[in-house]
Amino acid sequence: MKKALVIGSGAGGAMAARMLSATFDVTVLEEGRSFRPLPISLDVLTKVRRTGLFVDPRMIQWVMPNMRIDQGADMVMVYGRGVGGTTTLATGNAVRADQGLRRLGIDLDEEFDALHRELPITTDHERFWSPITRRTFSVMTELGMDPTPMPKFLRTQQCARCGHCSIGCPTRAKWDARELLDGLRVVTGCRVTHLELGDGRARRVHARMGLRHVTFDADLIVVAAGGMGTPDILRRSGIPCQSSLFVDPVLCVAAPMPGVRQDRQLLMPFVSRREWYIISPYMDWLSFFFHYKWNHSRSDMVSLMVKLADVEQGDVQHRHMLKSLTPLDYERLRTGVWECRDILERMGAKQESVVMGILNAGHPGGMLPLSSADASTLHPSVLPDNVYVCDASLLPQSLGLPPMLTIMALAKRIAKVVQG
Ligand SMILES: Cc1cc2nc3c(=O)[nH]c(=O)nc-3n(C[C@H](O)[C@H](O)[C@H](O)COP(=O)(O)OP(=O)(O)OC[C@H]3O[C@@H](n4cnc5c(N)ncnc54)[C@H](O)[C@@H]3O)c2cc1C
Ligand code: SF4
Repeated sequence: MKKALVIGSGAGGAMAARMLSATFDVTVLEEGRSFRPLPISLDVLTKVRRTGLFVDPRMIQWVMPNMRIDQGADMVMVYGRGVGGTTTLATGNAVRADQGLRRLGIDLDEEFDALHRELPITTDHERFWSPITRRTFSVMTELGMDPTPMPKFLRTQQCARCGHCSIGCPTRAKWDARELLDGLRVVTGCRVTHLELGDGRARRVHARMGLRHVTFDADLIVVAAGGMGTPDILRRSGIPCQSSLFVDPVLCVAAPMPGVRQDRQLLMPFVSRREWYIISPYMDWLSFFFHYKWNHSRSDMVSLMVKLADVEQGDVQHRHMLKSLTPLDYERLRTGVWECRDILERMGAKQESVVMGILNAGHPGGMLPLSSADASTLHPSVLPDNVYVCDASLLPQSLGLPPMLTIMALAKRIAKVVQG
């Protein structure tokens, strides 16, 4: 049986590995370790927060090593390092976001249909919404914002409505990519540094495991180390990438509302799609713990997220984000913030009590964007014959929408292309 190596075990890597395992002997190389949800109760962390010791969002990594924070010029990047990649931190939104791919002539209807058959995707959580969620929904409806229930990777009956979705689901009600890896060989703690190339092919993968330098041979190599990890590996291997990083920045707008308990609710239960961004209720734990202005009890706050489709410009160097938002990005964010302010005011908040969160991002991608020339092969010409990329790096434009479902649809198609 031919051997395939998949680098990275997130949305793209796990799906590629699962699909390829039908015809290849697959090994997944993953830099991080097994995922563990936040191991300390929020009550304890809330007490520590009152001491004022939480000054830098990167401190979250001390208690949750699978959650990584990269401090950029004007925002932080949040991403997952560990089995399941960033999907373990995801809010569970399962949204089709392939407009850019369709424009290139890439039709993934079949793959999206298969994903809907194979994974627990549902909008059947509306009946569990709390009063504050219903109230927010009706205010946004009155404002003509056309909110709709969010499709979720979710087993609704198992959901405890604890609101921990982005810090690790304690019940596994929320589906994540670890489920695709069951029964597959995953080497953890293995950081791939580069591919050794020759004669238009990759001959070997070089990696570090602790202090050891190790190599792996394979017939096929799939690079799926995410929107920050993949460009780093490719460039170290002499394969160019573009400075077209997008990140889908997020800014939360919150106000105190005593006793509403938005913190005890599935995150992002519904969404309003605006022209350049979406708005959705979201208890932003990063801002709650690390922004000095978020000083209310977590049971007494309502928070709305603006998630923007940013201009595709920016870079990654040594896995560090080199990106500032453009004036246009800021202008669009400001419009979103004003819409959120309006919603909160109609819900009874005082304008002067409204606070902004930490500008953050969690959807890096776009540095090896597919073009119409790649529509049938899904194999950008800069890649050696036996190397495929299978993650957010391939997306041709920022989405301003959750990308996991689309990345997995791409991964399915790529595996089919490889398998002939
Ligand atoms: C808080 C948060 C909430 C989110 N919520 C949603 C949501 O609800 N719905 C949605 O669709 N999207 C969501 N996202 C985004 C989504 O999780 C990511 O876009 C998606 O997982 C990206 O898939 P990927 O395969 O490109 O990379 P990832 O899932 O990030 O996987 C990359 C993997 O590669 C590994 N890796 C990196 N470098 C190396 C290396 N050198 N060697 C070996 N392994 C390496 C990493 O450890 C990681 O496991 C969220 C993101 C965040 C931060
Ligand atoms: S709200 Fe539901 S899906 Fe989210 S972490 Fe809690 S149990 Fe899991």
